[in-house]
Amino acid sequence: PRSGYCIATKTFHSLCPGVTLPCESLPLSVASFAISLLPIPLPTNPAFIDSDSGSSLTYPEFLSQVRALASSLLSHLRLSPGDAAVILSPARLEIPVLYFALLSIGAVPCPSNPLSTRSELSRQVHLIRPKIAFAISAAAPNLPDSLLTVFIDSPRFQSLLHSPNSPLPPLPEVRQSDTSAILYSSGTTGRVKGVVLTHRNFIALLAVFHSRMLERETPAVGLFTIPLFHVFGFFMLLRTAALGQTAVLMERFDFSAMMRAVEKYRVNYMPVSPPLLVAMLKSDEASRRDLSSLESLACGGAPLGREVSERFRARFPAIQIVQGYGLTESTGGVTSPEETDILGSVGRISPNIEARIVSLDSGEALPPGHRGELWLRGPTVMKGYIGDDEATSSMLTSEGWLKTGDLCYFNEDGFLFIVDRLKELIKYKAYQVPPAELEHILHSHPEIADAAVIPYPDEEAGEIPMAFIVRRPGSTLTSIAVMDFVVKQVAPYKKIRRVEFIDAIPKSAAGKILRRELVQRAGFSPKS
Ligand code: ATP
Ligand code: MG
Repeated sequence: PRSGYCIATKTFHSLCPGVTLPCESLPLSVASFAISLLPIPLPTNPAFIDSDSGSSLTYPEFLSQVRALASSLLSHLRLSPGDAAVILSPARLEIPVLYFALLSIGAVPCPSNPLSTRSELSRQVHLIRPKIAFAISAAAPNLPDSLLTVFIDSPRFQSLLHSPNSPLPPLPEVRQSDTSAILYSSGTTGRVKGVVLTHRNFIALLAVFHSRMLERETPAVGLFTIPLFHVFGFFMLLRTAALGQTAVLMERFDFSAMMRAVEKYRVNYMPVSPPLLVAMLKSDEASRRDLSSLESLACGGAPLGREVSERFRARFPAIQIVQGYGLTESTGGVTSPEETDILGSVGRISPNIEARIVSLDSGEALPPGHRGELWLRGPTVMKGYIGDDEATSSMLTSEGWLKTGDLCYFNEDGFLFIVDRLKELIKYKAYQVPPAELEHILHSHPEIADAAVIPYPDEEAGEIPMAFIVRRPGSTLTSIAVMDFVVKQVAPYKKIRRVEFIDAIPKSAAGKILRRELVQRAGFSPKS
């Protein structure tokens, strides 16, 4: 059926045929796999461009730097397969080279937010027990003194990239089941978790993208404003290289610089988070720039309101928004866009992935049209969390299902809709209220620039929905007006019962609302 639902197994799957993966027993690193997908002769477009300086790496330069660095990592720095390496850096041209060099020798990149605090880093170091760190000098002081640190912005590191063509020592054998990278979850619902991903996980995802690569006359140019230490950015670098495309990197996010870069480099697509779409909608500059090269925006990481999509489509009819959904634990995206994109959906499930919607009450797998927790199974599901067997076994079932913690449903056509995170549902009496649903409604108010909803403790109801509102400049909107606006559009138990005005909604680098900060601001102690 068109829903891709199989009654016998109670699972949802892609309508496209499965994608063949390399034989699992073949020794293969994701770096070698990505490079093997590159066309011969090598693409003539740049592989990576630094948007500020305009400097770039061609494909031959990129591959030669990867080889030189891999060789130095083995012979000078004495890294061995399985050795973990902390990476602390904004997006620079050295980063894709470093990722590929580490991956190709079986060492394990563990990139972290360069703004991480000393205590966050010391916890991560305790968990992953790294051999070495690669950091820009500004970020290095927060690393433990005992950790051998190589400065990415030093002449020494540059010399490792350009070492004369000494013969490459034989690369160690890397099994696909080996750990490739440890990537941190965003820490939206608690402390960040170190997600252990294998070479196989990334190979499986790359193979799917490669299989659906459309023949273009010129390879696509992507502009990356997303952090490269997050799974989305990490994977997008691998994908760029495997498909022979061009990625423009931005060291610091700046809206105006981003618009200029789209124009200058004739950018075709950008991976974005929902707040960036909102920023584009609000911007006058977007009308002044030549954005005619921009074909699509790949949006993910947080819920995107229908209202925002609709307004975006009306203002930028030539730019397609392609929503994607995924978790660090699933190596990123598990859905694929289809020609018939449905507003509000994240697409259909990708080839090679099975999905279930599991009832919160009975634990039964549910057919299309029913809400429940999304479970995923397939070759991109993580090995586990580093140093936390308890969290691993509560997230992964013995049959290999990953419990996403997201409340979702499939419609009759097999399109997946994300309602909200289970952990963030507001429990009003016996009802559950998804804050994202209320936020989408609030976003549609012309005087509201941004909004977030949290549970507020209430003696009688347990919790009530409370809204934080950012008014548009000049607006005198009142709390009563906000509550009245919502009340007309929702069932009575969902109505907003408390409002506070705020200057900005706190959000993470990936565009997720930091509800814990709002809970603190609201002045009661959060439930654990
Ligand atoms: P933590 O697990 O540490 O609390 P996190 O879940 O935010 O943080 P990520 O792995 O970066 O860390 O994000 C995955 C989550 O992001 C998903 O479980 C889902 O809740 C949300 N998400 C991702 N894409 C979308 C999307 N397109 N629409 C709605 N939510 C999304
Ligand atoms: Mg999560």
